[in-house]
Amino acid sequence: MLYIGCHLSASKGFAAMESQAREINANTFAFFTRNPRGGTAKEINPSDVRKFLNSSSDFGKLVAHAPYTLNPCAADPKIRNFSIAAMADDLKRMEFTPNNYYNFHPGSHVKQGAEIGIELIARQLNEVLRPEQSTIVLLETMAGKGSEVGRDFGEIRKIIDRVKLKNKVGVCLDTCHIWDGGYDIVNNPDGVMEEFDKIIGLDRLKAIHLNDSLNPCGSHKDRHARIGEGHIGAEALIKFINRPELKGLPVILETPNDMDGYAREIKFLRQNYSE
Ligand code: FE
Ligand code: FE
Ligand code: ZN
Repeated sequence: MLYIGCHLSASKGFAAMESQAREINANTFAFFTRNPRGGTAKEINPSDVRKFLNSSSDFGKLVAHAPYTLNPCAADPKIRNFSIAAMADDLKRMEFTPNNYYNFHPGSHVKQGAEIGIELIARQLNEVLRPEQSTIVLLETMAGKGSEVGRDFGEIRKIIDRVKLKNKVGVCLDTCHIWDGGYDIVNNPDGVMEEFDKIIGLDRLKAIHLNDSLNPCGSHKDRHARIGEGHIGAEALIKFINRPELKGLPVILETPNDMDGYAREIKFLRQNYSE
């Protein structure tokens, strides 16, 4: 089963996102847990959540996204504290829709260096993760733009190594980001996935962000393209989602599209998916 979807607006609640998803033949979705620029989160409506949970048993795991403004490894302790408070609050609200994923960007170390960044990110996770939570928190693989941490599999591994509740963390692999980070999934997809397995472990791979890239491999730019309109290309992306290691993982499109565009991409990818 291919679980595929895109980002949807959370402003009208879960039942509304479910029907939007069904309209485009999606069976998972991503949403920002609060305004992407930060700010306060909308209250969860228990009856909306109940309705959604009762009708969405055919959906794959949801992949919630933390706001972009969250920077767990900022140099300014005020920004780090906001990041901890926002993530802790998001994880509390995630428990209304249990057993899903919460994805975040590890952050930018600014001028502190990757080692300090890694330490601060792990420290944040150790503050917010709880043994009783059902949500798995996913570190997103990053393109390595500026001082982003998580620019290669080794940095992600180093963060996980320092997390105490290791069964509460996983990885969301973004195809545009790893391509821009220098992992050639066009010419050497087997080698890239072997490296992922060797360094992080395939058991930690929980979700995919499926994007083409406007830039060549290793460019560290992070500009997403529609499927087939970038340097990765449709053929490589189709082969990628058909890999046996990815079976059953939620695939989220973050391509620059309107809903009709997402519907077309989902249709195209389903047509090229073999069970
Ligand atoms: Fe992201
Ligand atoms: Fe992404
Ligand atoms: Zn991106």
